[in-house]
Amino acid sequence: MRKALIAGNWKMHGSHELVQTLVEGIKKGANHYSDLDILLIPPFPYLERIHHTLAQTPLLLGAQNLYFGTQGAFTGEVSGAMLAEVGCKYVLIGYSERRTIFHEDLSLIAAKFKSAQEVNLIPILCVGETKAEREAGKTESIIHTQIESVVKLVGMSAFKQAVIAYEPVWAIGTGLTATPDQAQEVHAFIRRIFQNQVDLANTMRILYGGSVKADNAKTLFDMPDIDGGLIGGASLDAVSFLKICEGAKQAKESGALCTK
Ligand code: PEP
Repeated sequence: MRKALIAGNWKMHGSHELVQTLVEGIKKGANHYSDLDILLIPPFPYLERIHHTLAQTPLLLGAQNLYFGTQGAFTGEVSGAMLAEVGCKYVLIGYSERRTIFHEDLSLIAAKFKSAQEVNLIPILCVGETKAEREAGKTESIIHTQIESVVKLVGMSAFKQAVIAYEPVWAIGTGLTATPDQAQEVHAFIRRIFQNQVDLANTMRILYGGSVKADNAKTLFDMPDIDGGLIGGASLDAVSFLKICEGAKQAKESGALCTK
């Protein structure tokens, strides 16, 4: 069974005021969604404070990035051990903005995935194709390469302690969303990559990300291989984030989404 996961990636948004309003708002509403895993992924400076605010709640904390290794002369970087120490349980790896703006290549992303697991952080490996790649019919080969480069370094079994997020680059922050059928097709393809390990393929959580909003969440989560969402813009407002959680709850109640 796969427990649904709804994760809010705040990207480089935040202030003390926003943290206060957003976290308090989500905390208040989240008790309706105890069957879901709800994960907040704020910028680094707010992690520790949010960790304390979330104490005694089931809400989870994650980070947007890490550098491999435990410590050293890597000015400006943050290690997985540091993230674990401030309460993180998850970390995004290979987010599309890291791949494009910050030129993270396949080997760096694989190294980051490995080092996250070395300190028991659960990596959320983000994969996805650009519009040009989709139009050229390369969606599956791009995603296969993005996953395979990690598998080569850590082995397939390492994905027992990982999550994959399918985020078509053309849908991130654009207001364009993959249709439920388009997303389902790619999610099913990702699951097939792991088919040699049947248990792993059946239990691995695969999230969809790319302009998920309150009004499209349920139809996406109704698809059999979509186990939740990685939410950007709509996670910056407690009401809209909680409506997306409601979409997941309703998908579960209609039998589509497992939550246990
Ligand atoms: C994200 O931040 O993971 C994302 C997909 O952004 P948005 O929901 O704004 O498209």
